[in-house]
Amino acid sequence: MALRKKQKLEMERLIKERRAAIAAELQRDVEKAREEQYGELGGAPASDTGDQASADLLSDLDNAELSRDLDELRALDAALARLMGRKYGTCVDCGGEIAFERLTAQPAALRCFDCQRVHEKTFAHPSRAKL
Ligand SMILES: [Zn+2]
Repeated sequence: MALRKKQKLEMERLIKERRAAIAAELQRDVEKAREEQYGELGGAPASDTGDQASADLLSDLDNAELSRDLDELRALDAALARLMGRKYGTCVDCGGEIAFERLTAQPAALRCFDCQRVHEKTFAHPSRAKL
């Protein structure tokens, strides 16, 4: 028994809200990059290489920031899919329940608090096998 119906509805709303916020952020990133490329005063180059300009625009974007946002967008999509498939709120490591407070703070969370802590520890300090 994972989440109550009311909690699921709340999570659905939270996830969609956050998703919309990130999509808006991505949109801003693209617009910012466009402004930087064409100058502040609207001095758009009289160029006929539209396709090339779009390709440049994408490569000029802050890739780290962009991929972080895209990653979160994908994670939220996956969370939404899990929510529909009734697997939402179950820890992928121990199969236990993820606390609802944790889900409201981290809607895309895959692990319960304890497993996440272990996961991050392992991730932050890649342990070399002690043989
Ligand atoms: Zn767990």
